[in-house]
Amino acid sequence: MSALFNADSVVVATARELLGIHLPQSADDPTCAVCGQLSPCGPAANARQIELATDFTGRLVGA
Ligand SMILES: [Zn+2]
Repeated sequence: MSALFNADSVVVATARELLGIHLPQSADDPTCAVCGQLSPCGPAANARQIELATDFTGRLVGA
């Protein structure tokens, strides 16, 4: 299976940014700190799908 996104694309950069901020508020509060939806919220779920469809092999070589 070939990846849909290149690791260096702006789409992937944005998705990873979203993943870093759309997180549950705390262990006691599972709602997203940014949009208030139950975590994983829509933006985080979409961003995760993009990350899963990204080819990071170029990043791993020589890392
Ligand atoms: Zn959110």
